[in-house]
Amino acid sequence: MKFLKGLLEKVLTTIILNVLTPTLTLIASKISTGNWFSSFKSPFFIIISILLMTWLISALVYRRVTLIKAKNNDSLATFITTPLHGWRKIAEVDYCHVKWIVEEPIHKIGQQTDVNSIEVDSVARCPNCHAELEEKMNFFGRYLWICVVCNFKKSNKESMSKEAMRATRIAKNYLQQDKKRNYN
Ligand SMILES: [Zn+2]
Repeated sequence: MKFLKGLLEKVLTTIILNVLTPTLTLIASKISTGNWFSSFKSPFFIIISILLMTWLISALVYRRVTLIKAKNNDSLATFITTPLHGWRKIAEVDYCHVKWIVEEPIHKIGQQTDVNSIEVDSVARCPNCHAELEEKMNFFGRYLWICVVCNFKKSNKESMSKEAMRATRIAKNYLQQDKKRNYN
């Protein structure tokens, strides 16, 4: 965090300098020549501006790359609670063009499915070969889901863990509709 804070301060300083330099040049120009813009034509000003702009852009790019690297190194979210007897796969949901495994906690043999206790595994599966998908974030903040087995690739705006929550809602809805049908 300390590192990120330092980086942010660096970026802010650069932005301030980028605004400050033309302003100071304007004032200096007015004082020395009586014209607001004559100093802008000096090679010294142009070189300083180019250097500052390069610094600003590289600081921003560096910050973005570091942030993405940190995100990509985060381990995938797992279930918050682990039931005593583990989880049992009960269904599969197709959502976002990939497969999501719906599971329920095991309490006893022959238990009835409690719709409210079901979860969707936060790791989506490949629609072609059913392998677990890997997730990476690109420079522009979009997520890329990759299958290392069959090279399936899918780009997505939201993260896998967020989509897993939506897939859970869809699965709950399916099961509720199913239950209603059984009662009628
Ligand atoms: Zn695959």
